[in-house]
Amino acid sequence: MPDNYDVAIIGGGVIGCSIARELSRFRLKTVLLEKNAEVGFGTSKTNSGIIHSGHDTPLSTLKGRLVVRGNALFDGLHEELGFGFRRIGELNVAQTEEELEGLKALKALGDEKGVPGIELWDQERLRREEPNLSRALLGALYCPSAGVINPYEFAFALIENAVANGVELRVDSPVLGLEPNAEGLAVRTPGGTLQARFVLNCAGVAADEVAAMVGCADFKILPRKGEEYMLDKRLKGLVRRLVFPLPTKTTKGILIIPTFDGTIMVGPTAQTIEDRGDFATTAQGADEVFGYIKRLCPAIDARDAITAFAGLRAVSDTNDFVIGPTKVKGFVNVAGTQSPGLTSSPAIAEHVLEILSLQGLELSRKARFNSRVAPPPRFAQLGHAEQDELANKDPLFAKVVCRCELVTEAEIHDAVDHGARTLDGIKFRSRAGMGRCQGGFCSSRCMEILSKRLAKPIYDITKRGGGSYIAVPIDLEAARGEPPLHPDARPRINAEEK
Ligand SMILES: Cc1cc2nc3c(=O)[nH]c(=O)nc-3n(C[C@H](O)[C@H](O)[C@H](O)COP(=O)(O)OP(=O)(O)OC[C@H]3O[C@@H](n4cnc5c(N)ncnc54)[C@H](O)[C@@H]3O)c2cc1C
Repeated sequence: MPDNYDVAIIGGGVIGCSIARELSRFRLKTVLLEKNAEVGFGTSKTNSGIIHSGHDTPLSTLKGRLVVRGNALFDGLHEELGFGFRRIGELNVAQTEEELEGLKALKALGDEKGVPGIELWDQERLRREEPNLSRALLGALYCPSAGVINPYEFAFALIENAVANGVELRVDSPVLGLEPNAEGLAVRTPGGTLQARFVLNCAGVAADEVAAMVGCADFKILPRKGEEYMLDKRLKGLVRRLVFPLPTKTTKGILIIPTFDGTIMVGPTAQTIEDRGDFATTAQGADEVFGYIKRLCPAIDARDAITAFAGLRAVSDTNDFVIGPTKVKGFVNVAGTQSPGLTSSPAIAEHVLEILSLQGLELSRKARFNSRVAPPPRFAQLGHAEQDELANKDPLFAKVVCRCELVTEAEIHDAVDHGARTLDGIKFRSRAGMGRCQGGFCSSRCMEILSKRLAKPIYDITKRGGGSYIAVPIDLEAARGEPPLHPDARPRINAEEK
């Protein structure tokens, strides 16, 4: 007999995890199936980390209708789940007289959508507020409700809270096949087949492939790659707000992003690609980003880049979110989740629950729902007195593992306690490896801790699951001849998705 569930969610990005948490408020048996070793390792960790104000997305689209609601929900979520989030505001800057006129049209759209606090700034105000931007800029539209977020922390906190409220999480569980039947759908994974009344397709860039498993191939995902470049911390504070050019129909353009942790990031590019495994950053992409950014902020130079990554936007051929029931009873698409999918994710979750209810799922609230997750300790953010106090209580706070970001051994253990199973899981929970040396110093120590905590040999520790092994066992005898590599080991890991 297969395991029976009310709802099976395919895909643990911010959207699948948001829906899982919403469903965990109700008396339901829910499972989330994620093909990767951890949640949030798809597009949800390779984006610009912006909670958009939503002023520029037309109301004629579903994304345009959900984005403002999504933005508004972030204060409450941040308060309950403790992920990194701050409203720093965004500027659309005008480089020509024509664009100055365009700002007025953008403001009118934002006002119609009820986006709070939008203002037009003239050149003098812009120079006063952001003195390091190019003096050639003529003015700006300011939206105070835009914010920055650590999107991976958001995904981790959502699933931790959902699991605490009864959702079952299965990682390393790619859905291989779906068969509709009288009770809903049979869901096939390498670990066995389970049965669900409702299946939610939250598979991001792979959502069209998952829909095709039940013959619902009526939309296509055309992945659009974006390359982003992280700059040295010494540029912290150069620009205080998010800086955007005027948006076009296909992209919001190349941006300056003062991230939640203070490091400035620039990008992304926007390139439609065929290969869904293409996460390469390129010289061409870097030239495009830094060539353009100089026009907005002359002080930023390509030599400031400390690392780069690329992510794939799950753009549908309708250029909108594809969310709704299908011809297959119980199978619901939550697809086409391009930008602003991160911003919209909490509103998407609300919308999906309405759809499920209309489709016959009874939503009966639990008597008890714990809405909170304790945020991780952040040693680097504390004053000296608080740091001393922590170190006196727990000596592991006195052992620094990551020197660049001042991350202590206690924080690495905390990351493992909260679900980290890979080196990236530790990095994105604790910041160990995110600084100037990009893990050159701390990776081996983090691997040792993971190895001990997971009771696995060090050569079984991966960067991000799958075959991304870092160490290989060397039999010294054999090393004189041919070293025996781990069966799945690659000679070196890809530079993708750092
Ligand atoms: C460069 C870039 C910048 C962006 N910037 C922003 C921004 O600033 N603000 C914003 O709002 N949005 C932004 N976005 C968009 C945002 O990142 C996405 O909308 C959001 O992350 C989508 O989340 P998701 O859960 O749909 O997808 P994902 O995070 O990709 O999750 C899908 C999950 O499904 C899993 N999966 C796939 N197939 C299967 C299967 N068969 N079985 C089990 N699991 C499966 C995958 O492993 C993955 O974890 C950006 C996107 C990119 C690429």
